[in-house]
Amino acid sequence: MGRVIAVANQKGGVGKTTTAINLASSFAAAEVNTLLVDCDPQSNASSGLGLVKDPERISTYHLLLGAASAEEALKTTALKQLWIIPAHKNLIGANIELVDGERREFRLKDALAPIRDRYQFVVLDCPPALDLLTLNALVAADSVLIPMQAEYFALEGISELLDTVERIRASFNPNLAIEGVVLTMFDDRTNLAQQVTAELKRYFGDKLCATTIPRNIRLAEAPSHGKAALSYDIKSRGAESYMNLAKEIISHQLSVKEMAAAAAARTSPRTVTVNESVAPESPAANDVASAPSEPTTEEIRAEEPVQASSIQVPVEEISGEEPAPSPVNEIQGEQPAEETGPPAVEEIRSEEQGGLSAEEMDKSA
Ligand code: ATP
Ligand code: MG
Repeated sequence: MGRVIAVANQKGGVGKTTTAINLASSFAAAEVNTLLVDCDPQSNASSGLGLVKDPERISTYHLLLGAASAEEALKTTALKQLWIIPAHKNLIGANIELVDGERREFRLKDALAPIRDRYQFVVLDCPPALDLLTLNALVAADSVLIPMQAEYFALEGISELLDTVERIRASFNPNLAIEGVVLTMFDDRTNLAQQVTAELKRYFGDKLCATTIPRNIRLAEAPSHGKAALSYDIKSRGAESYMNLAKEIISHQLSVKEMAAAAAARTSPRTVTVNESVAPESPAANDVASAPSEPTTEEIRAEEPVQASSIQVPVEEISGEEPAPSPVNEIQGEQPAEETGPPAVEEIRSEEQGGLSAEEMDKSA
């Protein structure tokens, strides 16, 4: 079963779309079949991968309205193993059109169900709001990846997002995990960045991704060429950092699978042969396990970092039955998008050579 990762943060301009495009592209470069779904009416992920604006095209809007299937909406990209379901600006209307719709919170999940097994990763790019579009993405997702900037007010608004995740777990999607928090546009030369990172580490523990994404001009330039950073300049620090993030997420999934297999072997009443216990499954990148149940928001907020060894691994699968939906206005916590323009060029570091090639990444993955 593929893993569906929603890239979400209701704060605008924190690097959600840049992360969604480049993470999805990096999975694809690691020869893992990947689908990117643009869930944002701004359609930046669609244009960032070179899709020209076309009022006729089938988009996420049609999926949510039940007017087309995911199969019909699929588009190929320049990368062989990356597909995209584009968005369109009329998606903004879906928020209103779906208000009285049946199973309005499950529209995206239902639409993706027939095709999700074809992909090892499905990446959802969310809009900068906790609206019905983000809600649909979080209900469809196995986990949420939260891009954040290491700035003084970094934690402001995060509790609102984590509360939303809690409520979605309680009402719609009990298995929704926190994939991680990734620091974007990061400059470790500043004391502030280091202080904020230390604070975030205390807050999120090992949910804070080890990989940070530097502020990098190639990441800002690539979308205007309709390309992922690794297609635009594979040696750039931006492309390299997103390939590292993809590796981190892939290896996390693999270690979760190994832990689950080891736990199953320990609790199994039957005789376990040596082969089963030491070699649970081939650790191929395209065979990724689903995640264990996640710590609650309270656990994530705890002062002590969460240790990998403390993660609970469910031995039995949780029932796929969906709980009764609760009103969407309980979930919504609308926050307007902030306009964040491209970074000033002088703030951006010059490129470094010697990045990781797709082949190298492929081998290590
Ligand atoms: P929105 O909330 O509007 O959807 P977003 O969270 O998706 O925004 P992006 O569009 O990814 O954020 O990024 C905002 C701006 O910052 C864009 O101009 C993007 O090119 C730039 N940007 C993002 N990440 C980086 C980076 N690591 N280095 C340099 N520029 C970046
Ligand atoms: Mg965006």
